[in-house]
Amino acid sequence: MTSAPYSAAPAKAPTTDVPPVTARPVRRMSTAMRLRRRVRTLLRFETSAARLEKQVRDYVMGSLELFWKRQTIYAAAALLCGFYYDLQVAVMCYLFIQFTEFCDTWLSLQIVRWKGGSLREARRYRNLLFLSAVQSTAAIALWAAIVAEMEGISSHFMPLFFLFAAGLFAAVNNHQIPQILALRLLMYTVVFLYIPIDDLLQVRPPIQSFLWLQLFTVVFVLFFVIECSTIFLRLYRRGLDQLDEIRHERDRVQAAYEVKSQFVSVVSHELRTPLTSINGALGLLRTGAYENDPTKARNILEIAHKNSVRLSALINDLLDLQKLESGQMTYNFDELDLAAMVEECMGAMETFAQTYGIQFDFTPPDEMVVVHADRDRLHQVLDNILSNAVKFSRRGEKVEVRIHTTADRILVEVQDHGIGIPPNSRDKVFGKFTQVDSSDRRAHGGTGLGLCIAQEIMAAHGGSVNYTSTLGEGSTFVIDFPIKDEEE
Ligand code: ADP
Repeated sequence: MTSAPYSAAPAKAPTTDVPPVTARPVRRMSTAMRLRRRVRTLLRFETSAARLEKQVRDYVMGSLELFWKRQTIYAAAALLCGFYYDLQVAVMCYLFIQFTEFCDTWLSLQIVRWKGGSLREARRYRNLLFLSAVQSTAAIALWAAIVAEMEGISSHFMPLFFLFAAGLFAAVNNHQIPQILALRLLMYTVVFLYIPIDDLLQVRPPIQSFLWLQLFTVVFVLFFVIECSTIFLRLYRRGLDQLDEIRHERDRVQAAYEVKSQFVSVVSHELRTPLTSINGALGLLRTGAYENDPTKARNILEIAHKNSVRLSALINDLLDLQKLESGQMTYNFDELDLAAMVEECMGAMETFAQTYGIQFDFTPPDEMVVVHADRDRLHQVLDNILSNAVKFSRRGEKVEVRIHTTADRILVEVQDHGIGIPPNSRDKVFGKFTQVDSSDRRAHGGTGLGLCIAQEIMAAHGGSVNYTSTLGEGSTFVIDFPIKDEEE
C-alpha cells in the first residue's frame, strides 16, 4: 500500500536525486512501534501480588476519599441540567449515577476489608473495579450525550466541558490502575468526538464553520487530557518502582543482619564449648583432688589439651574465613609438583589415619603434573579433604587418592567408602559451621568451616571443590585446577 504514492516519483525527479524513499515509511514504522511499546509499558498487567494489591488499594482509597467531592459535582450537574434543560432527564441521569456510585462504594469497602496477600484475589478485585468503572463512565458519558442531543446544533459548552472535567478527573485520580484509566479515557473520547461529529454530519458545513473549529478544539483538548494521564501514570509507576526498590533493600539488609547475628551466636557457641571444657578441667586440677592420682589428672589434662587444640583450630579457621571473605588473604603462587604435594599431605596425615585404622591408596599420575598454586593453601585444602575422608570412613577401610588430567583441568580425587552424604546436602557440606548430621560432629569433631574455606581457596586458584556421594557407600571429593596455557 505504501508503495503507491512513491511510484509517481520518477516522473517528477531523476532517480539519482531522489532522496531515499524508504526513509519515511521506516521512520513512520519505528514511531508507531515506539508508540505501541510506550502504550504497552504504561498499560502492562502487574504480575507481582504486592504491586497489584498496592495499585488496587491506592485506587480504592483515592476513590473513597473523593466520594463527597464526586457527590457535590453530580449534584451541581443535576441542578444545572434540571434548571436549564430538562428536570426529568436530570433526575434520571442523577439516579443512574447514584446507582453506579453505590456499586462502586460497596466494592471499595469490600476491598478495604480484604486482608490481601493473594495475586488471584487482587486480579479479581481489579477486574471487578474495571466493570464498575465501565458502569460509572457509561453513566457520565450518556448524560453528556443526552444533554448534547437536547441542545441540537450548538456549541455544546456544558456537555463538552463536563466530559473534559471528567477526563481530567480520571487522569488525576485513576492513574493507579492504568487499564481503568485507559477505559475511562476511551469512553469519554468516543462521546467527546461523537458530539461535534454528529453536528457536522447533520449540517455538513464548510471548513470555516465554528462546528469544525469545535471538532478541532475537542481533538486538541483530548491530546491534553491524554498527556496529563500519561504524566500521572508515569509518576505513579515511578513511585511504585521506588517502593519496590526500598522493599528489596530492606529485605536484603534484614537478611544480612539475620545471617550476621546467627553467625555471631554460632561462633560464640563454638568458642564457648571447648573453653568451658578447658575451664572445667583446669578447675578440677586446681582443687588438688587428683594430686595423688596422676592417671586421672593426666586424663583431665588430655581433655583440656584436646579442647585447646580444637579452640585454636576454630580460631584459625575463623581468621582464615574472615581474610578470605574480606579479600585480604594473600597467595604466593608457585609451580608445584602436585603428586609430591599430595604425598606430602598423606604423609603428614599418616598418624591421624592410623588412629582411625584407615590406609591411603595413592595412584600417582603417569607424568609429572604441575599446578600453579599457593603451597600452604593447597596443603590446607588437601588436609581438609583427606582428614574428612578418614574421619567419615569405617575402621579398616581404604581411602583412594588419584590425580587426573582432562583437556583443560587437573583433578585430584579423594574417594572413601565411608558413611556417605545424603542427597541435597550441598548447603550443609559447604556451609559455615554446618555439618550433615550433628551427631557426626560428636563422633568426629570438626568446625564445619573446612570445606567452606577450601571452596574459597580453590576459587582463588581458578578451580573448585565438588563431590559425588552415595549414602552408606562413600564419597568422592574432587578438587580441580585449570590447566595453564603455555603462553600465559
Ligand atoms: P568439618 O570440620 O565438620 O569436617 P567440613 O567443612 O570439612 O567441616 O565438612 C562439613 C561436613 O561435610 C562434615 O561435617 C560432614 O558432615 C560432611 N562431609 C565432609 N566430607 C565428608 C566425607 N568424606 N564423607 C561424609 N561426609 C563428609
